Amino acid sequence: MSTVLSEPKLPAGVKLPIYMDNHATTPLDPRVLETMLPFFTNKFGNAASRNHSFGWEAEKAVDLAREQIAKLIGATAKEIIFTSGATESNNLAIKGIGEMYRERGNHIITQVTEHKAVLDTCKRMEKLGYRVTYLPVNADGLIEMDDLKRAIDDKTILVTIMFANNEIGVIQPIEEIGKLCHERGILFHTDAVQAVGKIPVDVNAMNIDVLSLSGHKIYGPKGVGALYVRRRNPRVQIAAQMDGGGHERGMRSGTLNVPGIVGLGMACEIARLEMAEEAAKLIAMRDRLRKKLESNLDFIHLNGSMEHHLPGNLNMSFIHVEGESLLMGINDIAVSSGSACTSATLEPSYVLKALGLGDDVAHSSIRFGLGRFNTPAEVDYVADKVIDVVQKLRELSPLYEMAKEGIDLTKVQWQAH
Ligand SMILES: *Cc1c(COP(=O)(O)O)cnc(C)c1O
Repeated sequence: MSTVLSEPKLPAGVKLPIYMDNHATTPLDPRVLETMLPFFTNKFGNAASRNHSFGWEAEKAVDLAREQIAKLIGATAKEIIFTSGATESNNLAIKGIGEMYRERGNHIITQVTEHKAVLDTCKRMEKLGYRVTYLPVNADGLIEMDDLKRAIDDKTILVTIMFANNEIGVIQPIEEIGKLCHERGILFHTDAVQAVGKIPVDVNAMNIDVLSLSGHKIYGPKGVGALYVRRRNPRVQIAAQMDGGGHERGMRSGTLNVPGIVGLGMACEIARLEMAEEAAKLIAMRDRLRKKLESNLDFIHLNGSMEHHLPGNLNMSFIHVEGESLLMGINDIAVSSGSACTSATLEPSYVLKALGLGDDVAHSSIRFGLGRFNTPAEVDYVADKVIDVVQKLRELSPLYEMAKEGIDLTKVQWQAH
C-alpha cells in the first residue's frame, strides 16, 4: 500500500495521528482535569459521610456538580441521579420504569438506530415479558411521527428515542415526540449522550421525563454519567436496579465517584458557556471537510439528514472503495467506519442498513467526528489524505471504471466461479 500512496505534506501545527472520532469518546478538557485533581488527593471524603468536614466538602462539590448538570439541560439539581455512564443510565431508565409501571402496561416503543445500550436493554425487557416496538427510520435516519402515533396503544408505558445518533449525527424530532407522549400520558426517555453539551437541550420545553448523559462524550471523564428523572408534571418513579445504601434518592446505591462527578459538572459548565461558539466552529469545519470531499470526488454519499444534524458529525460513503483498504490507507487519522471490522462477521453497521443503504455503500462509509480540539489545518490534512487514498484505490478498481462509464452495477450479471 505505502508504495502506491503518496503522503500529502503535513501542514504547520498538525501532529499525527489526528483524532477525529469524537463520537466514540472525547479527550478530557484540561480545565476539567484541573478541577478533578484535588478530589483524588486531599479532598478524598465520602459524600455520604455526614459527621465530618471531609464528607461535607465532598458533598458540597457533588451538589455543585448537580447544579451545573441541571443548568445545562434546564432541570433542577434534585432531578439528577449519578451513574457510571450512559450505558447504566439507559439500563436504569428502561428497566426501572418497566418494573415500576408494570401494572399500568407492558409496552415499550423505541427505534432501530438506537445505541446498543438501549436496544439490548429492550431485548432483555422482551425476555422479561414486555412487548417492544422498534420503529423504522426513513432514508434520512428520522422516525416518522405517524409511525409513533400508530404504535401507541393502551398498554404503552414508555417511549425511548435517542436525541441524536452517534453514527450519522441525525437529530430526532424530540420536541414533537415529547409533546405527543405527554398528551397520551406516556413517559418519554431519551438517550441524549450525543446531544447534551453540543446542541440546546431543555427537558421542560421538550417534555422529556428521563434523560441519559455521559461524561466522556463531553470532554469529561470516563466512567461517570447521569440520569435526569423528572420530579413534577409528572413525578417519575424508577425502581432501583442497584440495591444498597440508598444513595441518589434510593434510585442508585453506591458510594459516589466524587472526582468523576466533579469533572462531569465542570464539563457541563464549560459546555453551557461555550456551546454556541463551539457549534459554529464545528459546523464551519464540518462544512469545509464536506465541500473539499464533494468537489474532489465523485460517487460519494452523505448519510443522514443534513438538515437535522449534529454540528461535529459527517458520515460519508465512498462508493466503489473497499472500506478496509480505505481505513488502512488513512491509518494516521482516527475515524470510525461503517464496517464493523472488529467483528468476525463483517456485518455492516445496522444504523446505515436501517437507512436502506446497500452493504457496499455501508461498508465504504466513514464517520468523521469533529470535536473541541480539532483545527482547520487538521481538517485540510484529513480531506487531502482521504481524497488521495480514495482516488488511488479507485484507480485499482474495475468496478469504479465500469460505474464511471455509466454501467449500472446492480444490473450486471456476474459470472459464478
Ligand atoms: C457512548 C454512548 C452511549 C454509552 O455511554 P457510556 O457512558 O460510554 O456508557 C450511549 N448512547 C450513545 C448515543 C452513545 O454515544
